[in-house]
Amino acid sequence: MSFIIKREDIPHFSRHVISKGYTLFAPVKGEFKHSFKKIAENQVEDVSLDFVRTTMPPLKSLLIPPRETLLKIRNGKVEETLPDATSRTAILGVHPCDVNAMSLLERVYMDRPKDPYFEARRKSLLVIALNCKTADEYCFCTSFGTGPSLEEGFDLLLTDLGDRFLLETGSRKGAELISDFYMPRATSTDILEKDDTIRRVKGMIRRHVNTAGLQRIMIGALYNPIWNELAGMCTGCGACNMVCPTCFCFNMTDEPELDSGGTVRIRTWDGCLLWEYAEVALGGNFRRDLSARIRQFVNHKMNYWLNQYGSLGCVGCGRCIEQCPAGIDITRVVARLRGETP
Ligand code: SF4
Ligand code: SF4
Repeated sequence: MSFIIKREDIPHFSRHVISKGYTLFAPVKGEFKHSFKKIAENQVEDVSLDFVRTTMPPLKSLLIPPRETLLKIRNGKVEETLPDATSRTAILGVHPCDVNAMSLLERVYMDRPKDPYFEARRKSLLVIALNCKTADEYCFCTSFGTGPSLEEGFDLLLTDLGDRFLLETGSRKGAELISDFYMPRATSTDILEKDDTIRRVKGMIRRHVNTAGLQRIMIGALYNPIWNELAGMCTGCGACNMVCPTCFCFNMTDEPELDSGGTVRIRTWDGCLLWEYAEVALGGNFRRDLSARIRQFVNHKMNYWLNQYGSLGCVGCGRCIEQCPAGIDITRVVARLRGETP
């Protein structure tokens, strides 16, 4: 079902979501960029849906927090700190590439063995997605069919039509949320306007990855000199890993709690570009060279994912390109490996 919500009613709609018992996260305009924040009832006017991408991936940050306590050990007893799956969390304004990245993370974390922490958070999450109304020079979602619009994976879906938003339902949970929020039904003109918007945004996307036969090309390029060339540019900062919505690696450490005499087990994000990532006992490291680490990053997205999870592991969000201090661009790397002019 499709409805129309006036632009000025977004704060009212946000308040409605909170009134239904949801903890709401939504984009807020910052000094330089938008970022997703928890929205209290008196902050609904701050919700701003005019952005291309946030620096940090909103769904990964919510479902796998950058640092979380997995369990506590006190007096010899293990206490799991599982999130409450019956709580309600809603996230408003997530773009299609990030929703599709969440679907990829589900394959990783909800396959065998299931990660109970991810699962509990995913079960309690309601996704109000937002089709893109513009794109910038970093976007290349059309290469993977992961944007700029969505067909599935959302509970509710907004499309910006200027003075109003088209709101579509994608699940029973989404339909229930709006069942007592009055909105007029959308007309065929509204739907046509949505189609025009999506067509226009597709036309704005200039960056592409040619995925035809890509796995074969990547396998053939394992010893290509490009990896050494990139290692000469890369700083090993790991920013690409951290901002990537599909990078899912983590580290676990046991930390003593001096006041209680117990121990806490902490999970933190990790990344294959970081030197410590492949470090093992006694100072060994399987990927000492940056060339091996950057080759791993690109191959995992554009090659290994296919065997592991049945699809490529990139959604074309452009974050790794925008944030790389060395100007390394995964689309240009692939183009060069294909022998194409980037
Ligand atoms: S590899 Fe880069 S473009 Fe692809 S999903 Fe990750 S951050 Fe986005
Ligand atoms: S963001 Fe750029 S410089 Fe930093 S690790 Fe990734 S590729 Fe290297």
